[in-house]
Amino acid sequence: LSDRLADTFKNLRTRGKLTASDVDGTVREIRRALLDADVALEVVKTFTGAVRERALGDEVNRALNPAQQVVQIVNEELIGILGGQQRRLEFAKNPPTVIMLAGLQGAGKTTLAGKLALHLKGEGHTPILVASDLQRPNAVNQLQVVAEQAGVAVFAPEPGNGVGDPVKVAKDGVAYAKQKQHDIVIVDTAGRLGVDADLMKQASDIRRAVNPDEVLFVIDAMIGQDAVATARAFQEGVDFTGVVLSKLDGDARGGAALSVASVTGRPIIFASTGEKLTEFEPFHPDRMASRILDLGDILTLIEQAQGAFDEEEARKVAEKFATDSFTLDDFLQQMQQLKKMGSLKGMLGMLPGARGMRDQLDNFDEREIVRTEAIIQSMTPAERRTPKLLNGSRRVRIAKGSGMTVTDVNQLVQRFEQASKMMKTVAKGGVPQIPGMGPI
Ligand code: GDP
Ligand code: MG
Repeated sequence: LSDRLADTFKNLRTRGKLTASDVDGTVREIRRALLDADVALEVVKTFTGAVRERALGDEVNRALNPAQQVVQIVNEELIGILGGQQRRLEFAKNPPTVIMLAGLQGAGKTTLAGKLALHLKGEGHTPILVASDLQRPNAVNQLQVVAEQAGVAVFAPEPGNGVGDPVKVAKDGVAYAKQKQHDIVIVDTAGRLGVDADLMKQASDIRRAVNPDEVLFVIDAMIGQDAVATARAFQEGVDFTGVVLSKLDGDARGGAALSVASVTGRPIIFASTGEKLTEFEPFHPDRMASRILDLGDILTLIEQAQGAFDEEEARKVAEKFATDSFTLDDFLQQMQQLKKMGSLKGMLGMLPGARGMRDQLDNFDEREIVRTEAIIQSMTPAERRTPKLLNGSRRVRIAKGSGMTVTDVNQLVQRFEQASKMMKTVAKGGVPQIPGMGPI
């Protein structure tokens, strides 16, 4: 997937103006990438529709680099759906702040209760957990364990009283918290394996009883295509103020995030990334956008490459290859372009699709550029223009002048000739190349 998208964007990048069919091709790839990331089909359709419209619009035509503009549009639209800015928890003006958790069984609510408590405790709050999940025999105990791990208080019904009333426990818990001056109450609730009416009624009864400042809908990121239906059911049945995405540490590509954010319009506030209580973080829309598209830092990479490897320059060079007028000066210039790009390996490390290229680069020594520079700079302008002039005595002179050996000089000339030959072929296809390195 990542390779494919990287290729798509790269292909776009090497073209000048975009035609409608360029845009359609790209939109098709993006659509596939989103479906692969488990984004719900209806969301994919809406999204790609919006991207297509913008991509065909004026902002792209006017842009200096239309392809890059399209990439930016995709990224912007994704971040927009994911809520744009990072959203923080809202605290009550008059404590305690009540945070209720809702979601299917196994979504990660109880674990989140502990994570949230630990996180808030670290910020100087005094949270208490309330055990309003009386559905499963072990649920109360699980919350107690989690509270102990987080080092926070817990409010739970007395054991052995038969089946208690979760709504009453929630209410009593909040009253207790007020009395003990806890400034935050986190109410854990029951879930079912699937959405059902009883569960929704119970959750909405608890909501009405404790009037929470935040209702966090916890959803397993691995749920994939079911995310939309589940989120809609909870929005209708209980409604929520924010979303927590759990189990993002797994294989989940984060498509659920986009689906839920898109169909409910509710912000994602936290991401849960493991079973341990510390594996938890505020949600960053921009990072998730990258994860969904598997862009890595492709945008940064494109910007860097763009800055260093001017497209106009690349076209000129390609033309020179095609017409056989590529000289050692041009060769040197290309090397210098490379140097400008900084550490190539580091750069390619940012690009998920560039594994193959990275391997190639493992054999590429950047000091080579410095040596090449020294050798070419010791040549006369005539020699640089016409490498055929480089006979034995000239090579000895150049080696001396550059502090290299004659073998070094021979190797360079040989590499130049090979590169020219190879590039001439490729240049006819119009793909900019860097000598000895394959397509950039
Ligand atoms: P609940 O039924 O909604 O309360 O879900 P639980 O908090 O009991 O979590 C269900 C299972 O998922 C437990 O085994 C947790 O350890 C696990 N779990 C919860 N959050 C995460 C997470 O972010 N990553 C991983 N890998 N596992 C998690
Ligand atoms: Mg639970």
